[in-house]
Amino acid sequence: MTRRRPLVAANWKMNGTLASVRPLLDGILAGMAAGDSGPEVAVCTPYIYIPECQSRLQGTVVVLGAQNVSEHESGAYTGEIAAAMLQDFGCRYVIVGHSERRHLYGESDHQVAEKFAMAVGHGMAPILCVGELLQEREDGDTEAVVAAQLDTVIKEAGIAAFANAVIAYEPVWAIGTGRTASPEQAQEVHAFIRLRLARHDDGIADKIRILYGGSVKADNAADIFSMADIDGGLIGGASLVAGEFLAICQATVDG
Ligand code: PEP
Repeated sequence: MTRRRPLVAANWKMNGTLASVRPLLDGILAGMAAGDSGPEVAVCTPYIYIPECQSRLQGTVVVLGAQNVSEHESGAYTGEIAAAMLQDFGCRYVIVGHSERRHLYGESDHQVAEKFAMAVGHGMAPILCVGELLQEREDGDTEAVVAAQLDTVIKEAGIAAFANAVIAYEPVWAIGTGRTASPEQAQEVHAFIRLRLARHDDGIADKIRILYGGSVKADNAADIFSMADIDGGLIGGASLVAGEFLAICQATVDG
């Protein structure tokens, strides 16, 4: 089995101002160990703070990401941001298919697949979010929902496009609610995702990092990260406090 370097990615969502983003980033940087012995750490910032974060992250071990990308190359799409623009500002990661995009903005599996392909085409690693609603879990449909979300991307972007991608399993009922999946519940879905990919390509399935997201905090992170198929986390609320986020990063080493 491949040893997968954990990844912890901050999703700041639509939070912060220039006045708060600067000390947050400085706090994270001040607590980061040099070198590559710990997890890889990424911050997915609101679009407008990408230039500021890019210059602050230059020469550090923390990498930059975005929270969304257009499925179109360029053109008359007012308010959208193209993959080439993110590439211009050194984004290494881009979140696609976050549940808030799927459920608040109606993004379809097909649209998410296009965004995924667009990110890959511009040399960025998509962080593909998948996950079920509470009702879907209670109805026993978790695997069917996750499989459909994943299969659409595999079908439209091709399995080879997953070579540098990341997947985040984020049960919708656990996002921002304070209610986490148990480590065992999460592991079960992570293992399912890896098996699903292995149907197409064993090597990619073995190598790909599958993050857990949904109310990860400093005090539950180590238990979650100790599971065999959990390779780090996508962190929302807890990534807005430097000390809490750093403790979560450290938990990948302890977990
Ligand atoms: C997220 O938005 O991806 C997330 C996991 O949020 P939170 O950690 O706040 O649940």
